Amino acid sequence: MDSLTILDVHNFGLSLKIKGRHIKIIEGIDFTLKAGSTLALVGESGGGKSLLCKSLLGLIPEGAKTSGNINLFSQENKVKDILSITEREIATIRGKQIGILFQEPVSSMNPVLKCGQQIFDVLPIDYKKNRISGNKHVIDLLDLVGLDNPKRVAKSYPHELSGGMIQKVALAAALAGEPSILIADEPFTALDVLSQIEILKIMTKLKEQLNLSLIIVLHDLELALEYSENLLVMYSGRVMEYGSTGKISTTPAHPYTKALLDVAKSYSENSRPLGIPGEIPSIISPVKGCRFHPRCKYAKEICKNAEPESKKVSQSGNVRCYFPL
Ligand code: SF4
Repeated sequence: MDSLTILDVHNFGLSLKIKGRHIKIIEGIDFTLKAGSTLALVGESGGGKSLLCKSLLGLIPEGAKTSGNINLFSQENKVKDILSITEREIATIRGKQIGILFQEPVSSMNPVLKCGQQIFDVLPIDYKKNRISGNKHVIDLLDLVGLDNPKRVAKSYPHELSGGMIQKVALAAALAGEPSILIADEPFTALDVLSQIEILKIMTKLKEQLNLSLIIVLHDLELALEYSENLLVMYSGRVMEYGSTGKISTTPAHPYTKALLDVAKSYSENSRPLGIPGEIPSIISPVKGCRFHPRCKYAKEICKNAEPESKKVSQSGNVRCYFPL
């Protein structure tokens, strides 16, 4: 592991007990996150991206069994496996070393508390010891995320702000604990495209300014290609392809990645929008063999009978397919 690695997920899997038996929901997840880089998680809904994000935060569903490791590296290069530490230790990491930006920022905020107070409440203890310097830090954070008139925003209740402003307040709150990693799970679902781009630009600027590493679940593949260094393509609880965004965008190796790129291209070219024929299988009743085979135009007999393993196809790229493109 090199000194730039901040998170190393190795062979992570999670199974849930459903109707008396354990079903592997996600399996064989491998990736590393480098300090100051952005990893975008992409793929259709229902592929396990949100469950993976929650797992990275140690939010494992009750009764679930996990395997593998989620190794988090501190600045002193000490390693903690999120899956092996106590809930008490996880509480010292969640919201602090790893920040969270929720899908619906409004629902993560208290409607009867002013925004500034809500950020103040999650500041590190040293800031809270002195109300004046704590309040100043809150204003600085609101300014950092690009809000005009941060003093007014701090005095506002969430319902007094627009969706884009609320998302920025939520971003300031996520940064309040001074995290080294920020996980954002589809943070823009309620926003129009221009607001999404504006916040992604702010996050990219902050990434450089604060040496922050980002893991972002993005629905919009075009945005993922533009704002990430690495891409992790998930489908039915598996990583189908993982590697550098530049390489994957020009030469995708997995048929599912290629299909996603073709759909995105058809939208951006304003031609007749394509879709991927068929539906993603339910994550709790997956298909046998390669999970993508019912929808894959390259499927052969072997694809229906046995699941392919993830294989290295380049220095930093992995693909789970018998017949990479
Ligand atoms: Fe398609 Fe077979 Fe590759 Fe699966 S393993 S993606 S079915 S070619």
